[in-house]
Amino acid sequence: MSMNNYMEQAEQYLLHTYNRYQIVLEKGEGVYLYDTNGKKYLDFAAGIAVNALGYSNEEYKTALKNQIDLLMHTSNLYYNVPMAEASKKLAKASGFDRVFFTNSGTEAIEGAIKTARKYAFNKDGKTDHEIIAMKHSFHGRSLGALSVTGNPHYQEAFKPLIGGISFADFNDLDSVKALVNEKTCAILLEPIQGEGGIYPATKEFMEGVRKLCDAHDILLIFDEIQCGMGRCGSMFAWQGYGVKPDVMTCAKALGCGVPVGAFVMSQKAAVLVPGDHGTTYGGNPFACAAVSKVFDLYESENIVENVNKISVYLNDKLDSLVEKFDCVEGRRGKGLMQGLILNKPANDLVLKAMEQGLILITAGTNVVRIVPPLVITKEHVNEMIEKLEKSLAGLQE
Ligand SMILES: *Cc1c(COP(=O)(O)O)cnc(C)c1O
Repeated sequence: MSMNNYMEQAEQYLLHTYNRYQIVLEKGEGVYLYDTNGKKYLDFAAGIAVNALGYSNEEYKTALKNQIDLLMHTSNLYYNVPMAEASKKLAKASGFDRVFFTNSGTEAIEGAIKTARKYAFNKDGKTDHEIIAMKHSFHGRSLGALSVTGNPHYQEAFKPLIGGISFADFNDLDSVKALVNEKTCAILLEPIQGEGGIYPATKEFMEGVRKLCDAHDILLIFDEIQCGMGRCGSMFAWQGYGVKPDVMTCAKALGCGVPVGAFVMSQKAAVLVPGDHGTTYGGNPFACAAVSKVFDLYESENIVENVNKISVYLNDKLDSLVEKFDCVEGRRGKGLMQGLILNKPANDLVLKAMEQGLILITAGTNVVRIVPPLVITKEHVNEMIEKLEKSLAGLQE
């Protein structure tokens, strides 16, 4: 079948909730994707910051194939070997005491919200607790996660959402302080806002919210679903700031393609007990085999080291585009989570890049998001910049 046939068939049967790009992807190899016509694309989007190890990593594939032969699923009523291994590795890498595996990032946020409410409930027995989240944040699409997502456009048609949520201005500590009251049970933020346009938190802001939480015995929750897993130059972004939350959510690159997330917490926030929370699939043997192998490969392939080395090179090149092209106004980000700020619609550039065989994504209307696999080399950066320059030149015509 031609690409058009596949796309028509998909559109005939799928619920139309995405405006998809007009390509049908068939396979991936290293940091390249191929469509069904055999066209090759350099991938600097990594399935939205998921494919940290690139595509078709042999060791990763072998681990998954072996686990398929052994056991895919048993439910959380029993123990299994991968769950024991993956939970230890995630706890060690993240610096937290307790792990709950989920099927997605959204579901990890749900768990974090329930943790915050239970923590406060255990203190005063009340059920009127409030959470402070940030404007321009993104935490997912379920009703709970949507309720803490600071984007009124996503929320409007689905109200009433869960109650007791207020929104502060990101990086404005006074705006957070103004919202804290005796009902507040948690402050939730992304250390580097992703979907909202790639905005890194300042160190002062992170330190400030930590102090505020300590002073009021409020849980600090970091959503590291996008910025975690080495992308920003430390295994988790909080480590780069030296500001540790009480609860952290994780997903995207945690499974490097297998759908899995987690919320992790320090002992003091380990308040959920049997009966409070559960999931059929969450952290099943197949998902945990992926997580376990991902952590092994992060070590053996020195992923975080590579991020720190290559991001200096990439960001230097991106900065030179700001000088060179009138339509590029600036760059923001941390590590290999970067945004190029345009004075034109970002999607126009994404479409031009796709013609050139380069996959990029947007973050908001005027920011092009650059979240490549974490295994990229200088050669890949050079190739990307060459394609990006051609695309930018086309955009300025
Ligand atoms: C992607 C994302 C989510 C939602 O994760 P899903 O796996 O799509 O449910 C939540 N928070 C952040 C910061 C994200 O980037």
